[in-house]
Amino acid sequence: MLADFEHASILVLGSGTSVGVPMIGCHCKACVSADPRDKRLRPSVLLKLGDKRILIDTSPDFRYQALHFKIDRLDAILYTHAHADHILGLDDVRPFNFMQKEVIPFYASAEAWEVISRTFLYVFDPGPSESSRPRLALHLFDRQPFVVAGTCIHPIRVDHGKGIVHGFRIGDCAYLTDHSAIPEESRELLDGLDVLFLDALRHNPHPTHSTVEESLRTVEQLHPKRAFFTHISHDLVHAPTEARFPENVRLAYDGLEVFIGRCDPI
Ligand SMILES: [Zn+2]
Ligand SMILES: [Zn+2]
Ligand SMILES: [Zn+2]
Repeated sequence: MLADFEHASILVLGSGTSVGVPMIGCHCKACVSADPRDKRLRPSVLLKLGDKRILIDTSPDFRYQALHFKIDRLDAILYTHAHADHILGLDDVRPFNFMQKEVIPFYASAEAWEVISRTFLYVFDPGPSESSRPRLALHLFDRQPFVVAGTCIHPIRVDHGKGIVHGFRIGDCAYLTDHSAIPEESRELLDGLDVLFLDALRHNPHPTHSTVEESLRTVEQLHPKRAFFTHISHDLVHAPTEARFPENVRLAYDGLEVFIGRCDPI
């Protein structure tokens, strides 16, 4: 069964690759561009489902993103994988613990949890502490859909070089960040999409990321109604890159909000 939220959207908090754009010390066309769409924070999106707020990844820019986009509550966090550009803002969920006076649930694969638990040893240390620490409740997911804040989330496994990343399908929208290939069994879960967010790092091949050309091919194969490319490096200047895309494909940018219509309720 599908139901309409009064408001369901995906807000891009960061459309950049791991070093962000501009990159420190770089003077290339994208890094000196005056177009605000060429200023890309590290990769993250916020799902707004009615009055619920679900964060996908805590980027190193999370504090700035939360302030800039006026995020005033967090109902859950989903992790795609545990690379630094997707997890290092985790400590900045503390203000949401303070404001909401509750533990925040987070959802991760076993592979991601293994790295997160080591990277943030102090957060998950069960002993007493004199300082505040994020208060988070772990929920592991594997291949089965799971329910977050009243909405059904379908994990989608993709290859990120030799690593595993999870994208997420919510209703007719899917968010697939870092990937170099989409396995056949995952493609079957990406049928009939209204909105598809896809990694498209640059034009030149990369061992762990999809290029613009590969992602354009993926769009042709999966034929979502609309596609948005993200995790963008400084090799791509927004306006001239997007000018060559088909009409249903756009480059994402920080602050882009896409209406996603219907989601599976419980
Ligand atoms: Zn990344
Ligand atoms: Zn640059
Ligand atoms: Zn990654």
